[in-house]
Amino acid sequence: MQIHLAKSAGFCFGVRRAIKIARDLAAECPRGYMLGDLVHNETVIREMEAAGLRKIKRLKPARALPGSARGRTAKEPRRPTLLLRAHGAARRTSALARRYGYTVVDATCPMVHEIHRIVRACDLEGRRIIVIGDRRHEEVLGICGQIARRSVVVDPAASVPWRALRRVRRAAVVVQSTQNLDGVLPLVEQLRARITDLKFFNTICNPTRMKQAEIKKLPLENDAMLIIGSRSSANTKRLYEISRKLNARTYWIQSPQELSARWFKGVRALGVTAGASTPEATTQAVIARVRALT
Ligand code: SF4
Repeated sequence: MQIHLAKSAGFCFGVRRAIKIARDLAAECPRGYMLGDLVHNETVIREMEAAGLRKIKRLKPARALPGSARGRTAKEPRRPTLLLRAHGAARRTSALARRYGYTVVDATCPMVHEIHRIVRACDLEGRRIIVIGDRRHEEVLGICGQIARRSVVVDPAASVPWRALRRVRRAAVVVQSTQNLDGVLPLVEQLRARITDLKFFNTICNPTRMKQAEIKKLPLENDAMLIIGSRSSANTKRLYEISRKLNARTYWIQSPQELSARWFKGVRALGVTAGASTPEATTQAVIARVRALT
């Protein structure tokens, strides 16, 4: 069986950068905290925790955190450090973190920062901000949290919230960086038909575009597809959805243990890709396990 690994499989530059910032922080600062998941991959998070970074789900005053009082060495900074994840955070989050006594280290991807910049500029122009993306995803919440005025989220998995848009005449549309453009463009057309002055910014990032361009070919060229990545990863989910539409024998796995030998019955060519936060080691372990099973 031939195995064709996508060129764009695995870490994007934004995730690579965030992990480097986290590793440097763990090495320099024994009192480092991550707010939520740095990236959407459990293996990466475990590695960061093993390196010494602690994960917190919600912000609380720094002095209430474990290990923040006794046991501090002379080398440790007085203030604990809080790492903001690759897909960004609302402005009030970093403001609150500083108020609570943290030094904030921002691992937000520069491409997400660019979306934040566009949103703030268009808000100053008096435009209503419309974000096309997964309603509950941290990136979307972070984008909405760049401005005081409430943004309208258009979730491709739901219908357009026309009630919230009924008086909107001037608007700007941005897109969650990992969305599928094929699902976004029809929504923009619907919005254009109702909103007279609409600016559209295609803020899907380049690594996502490259991954999606490849995933539109690989499932057609192979008998079966493996998509590797966490269930919590939005971009992996998108890769799976696109692939599944083109090839019914598409399987989404997080680790080699989930592989099943019967998936490869009669398969002569297997396509493999991995989400933007899937480590290379996981992808290689999956390929090695596929070879062992077949
Ligand atoms: S998927 Fe795109 S926006 Fe997200 S971290 Fe990677 S490069 Fe940045």
